[in-house]
Parts: sequence; C-alpha cells; structure tokens
Amino acid sequence: MPAFQTVRGMRDLIGEEAEAFTHIITKARETALLYGYKEAITPHVEPLELLSAKSGEEIRQRMFIFKDLGERLVALRPEFTASIARLATTSLKNEPKPLRLFSVGTVYRYDEPQRGRYREFWQSNFELMGSAKPEGDAEIVLITNNLMKSLGLHSYAFKIGHIGVIRGILSQDGVDEKTQNAVLQRMDKKEYEAALKLVESDKCRSMLEGLIAIRGNDWLDTVEQLQTYLAGYEKAKSAVDNLAEVLKLVTQSSELTVTVEPAFARGLEYYTGMIFEIHIPGLDIALGGGGRYDKLIEAFGGEPTPGVGCAHGIDRIAIALQTQKTVIDAKIGKKVVVVPITETMKSEALKIAQQLRAAGITVEFEVMGRKMAKSLEDADKRKADYAVIVGERELAEGAVVLKELANRQQTTIPIEKLGEKIKS
Ligand code: AMP
Repeated sequence: MPAFQTVRGMRDLIGEEAEAFTHIITKARETALLYGYKEAITPHVEPLELLSAKSGEEIRQRMFIFKDLGERLVALRPEFTASIARLATTSLKNEPKPLRLFSVGTVYRYDEPQRGRYREFWQSNFELMGSAKPEGDAEIVLITNNLMKSLGLHSYAFKIGHIGVIRGILSQDGVDEKTQNAVLQRMDKKEYEAALKLVESDKCRSMLEGLIAIRGNDWLDTVEQLQTYLAGYEKAKSAVDNLAEVLKLVTQSSELTVTVEPAFARGLEYYTGMIFEIHIPGLDIALGGGGRYDKLIEAFGGEPTPGVGCAHGIDRIAIALQTQKTVIDAKIGKKVVVVPITETMKSEALKIAQQLRAAGITVEFEVMGRKMAKSLEDADKRKADYAVIVGERELAEGAVVLKELANRQQTTIPIEKLGEKIKS
C-alpha cells in the first residue's frame, strides 16, 4: 500500500508548530475576553446557500461543496461571518445590541497552495454587530492591534481604505452593482488595468486612475489630498470623512502604524465601509483583515443591523512570529521521566508521577518497560531535565532517587520534597 499523505493544501501541525498555533489561539481568546467578546462555536459544515449568499464570486468559486447523504447541498465554511450572521438573525436575534462575538477554528478555501496559503487554515474572528458608529470600526482595528502586540510582533502596519470611495465614484457614473463588484475584485488583486477596462466612461476611469496613485504614510495628509481630489463626488467624499473619523479614534487612543490606500479593495463582497489589512515587512501576504458590512444582516433576512468585523490568519501569524524570531513563552517548566526499577515498583512509580503532575510538572512515564540505562538514554533524547528512579530500597524509606540529567548527579530525596526540589 502506498504511504498516505495529507490532501493537497492541508497540513499536519506537530510539536512546536502546534504549540505556536495554540499560543496564538490563546492570545486571541484573551483579547476576546479583554474586549468583551463572547465565544461562538459554529459548525464547519453549513448550507451552501448560507455560505454563498454574500461572500462574493471570488470565494464562491473556491468552496469545498458536497452533497451529504441526505442530498443536502452543503459546504465547508470558507469564513466565519456567514455563520455569525446566521446566529444574529436566529438564536441571537433578540439579544441586546451590540453583539460582540468571537470564533476560532479552521476554514476551507480551494486556494493555490503556497507558503502562507493553504486550503485548510485557521482564523480567529471578531464580529461587532449593531453599531454603525466609527467607534465600532475603531474597536475592530484596536482588537487586531492588541492581538499583534500581545504576540510580540513588531513593525507591522495597517493598510486602511474605505469601500465607499471606489463605489462612490462608480455609482456616480451609473456603473451597476455587478460591474462594481467585478471592478473591486480586480482591484483587490491589484489587477488595475483589468479593473479599469470594465469602466466605460473616460472620466470615471481617470478618476480611478488618480485614486490608485494616492497613498501615503501620513494618514492625515492622504485624507486631506483625497478630500480635495473627490470634490463633486459627495458619496465618495463622505466615505473619506468617515474613514478620517475612524483613523482619528484609533491613532489618538493607541500607537499604531497606518497607511491609507483609497484604491485598496477586499475579496469579500459584503463590505460597505472601512476595510483594512495588516502586514509585516518581508511578508507580502496579509496577516489579517476586515471591515464594515452594514447590509449583511438584512441580506440574511434579519432586521437592518450594521456590523464590522475582522479575521486573523493564524497560519500566517505563525510564519510572522517565526520570521521575526519571536520567542513563544510556552510556560513549560521542567520535564521529568519517572522510571520504576522493577515490575513491582510500577504502581508506586505511577502514583509519584501523578503527584508530580498534580504539582504542575511535566512527567513522561516509562511505558516501554525498558531497563534503567536504556530509559535514561531515551530521556536525554527527549530533553528531559530529571529522571525520578523508583526503587524498592529507597521507597521503603519514603524516598526516590532524583537524577539531574545534564550532569548525571543524583541524590536520594523524600517523596514529599520531590516536587519542590524539581521546581526550584
Ligand atoms: P479574509 O477572510 O479573506 O478576509 O482573510 C482573512 C485572513 O485570513 C487573511 O488576512 C489571511 O491572513 C488569512 N487567509 C486567507 N486565505 C488564506 C489561505 N488560503 N491560507 C492561509 N491563510 C489565509
């Protein structure tokens, strides 16, 4: 039989890599707690209809779709927002607003696999529903900043835009929504030429061309440039005013680096307002992103409810931590192997192992029935700090032998002092 492999685009995470993921998830969960977000665990499999309702052509084409045995057309979730919108329009319909919901788990997209791009990947997701105010947008940006900071990442920058700028220009020119979506999709992929080709009017095209050229590190300066540039385009201009308010709130309350890019678009179709992504130098893929979606809940059959949210790519954050050589404080203390000298000592040795674990010490018990020398050799390979050797003679006096593996020094020590000694 051939050796089995993972399905293309799916990965195993083992040991340190898995620990890095768990660490990021823990930090995301801590962030959720700090900002008052309740956790929601939703199914990986949802009705296709729900998932394809508002996600946009881009994602629709990349979903894992299948029929279950009951002939239901279903798909693996490509993101969390649709599931959360389902909750907001059903079981959480009558909850007081705002709703603050956090989720973490795997999502699935048939992307072309490469470093940082997988078909099964992890996201931490935050959704704030019920607020149309810029402080709502600010909260989502600050959550992302908080997570990056708490992970010890540095030099990261926010790229911020507002979907209303491009839509404002296009709709003033009478471009229909479907074409607007197609333009935005191409702009998202930075296929500007292809995007501009979809626009018939010369004036509108040149407005977009000009917009693509505007960007800068000084957000206030970029915003002022935009306000002048968009004279006569009231909708687009009010989008810029809204963006300015959000930026004022985040920059005055926190330290963060922002670049305003008015021609920046995102693949998901449901955005209606501020959009952002987070990047670090040397990695040309976004670590996370999000934005405002004021029409989504309505599209799912709920009461009109504004919303704003973000998703962080845990796989990519793990790469960023590695790139920046950020040390993960995994809080793993000393590691001990417990070895019974003879068969008859097994239960006693196991009891001691349990006592050490109860004291918070990592214990690997000798489960292979090996002789002492072999067991100690293996303990070295496993990078254990101590071996606890349980023998009849010492045990009769309520003691065991504690061997420090780095220098091979050993002492006989009363069992009740063992935990304390290892921890010191
Ligand atoms: P989105 O749901 O498209 O807004 O994506 C949010 C974040 O998920 C991105 O910024 C990435 O960090 C991450 N992400 C998106 N697609 C992939 C993928 N194929 N593999 C790994 N991470 C991804």
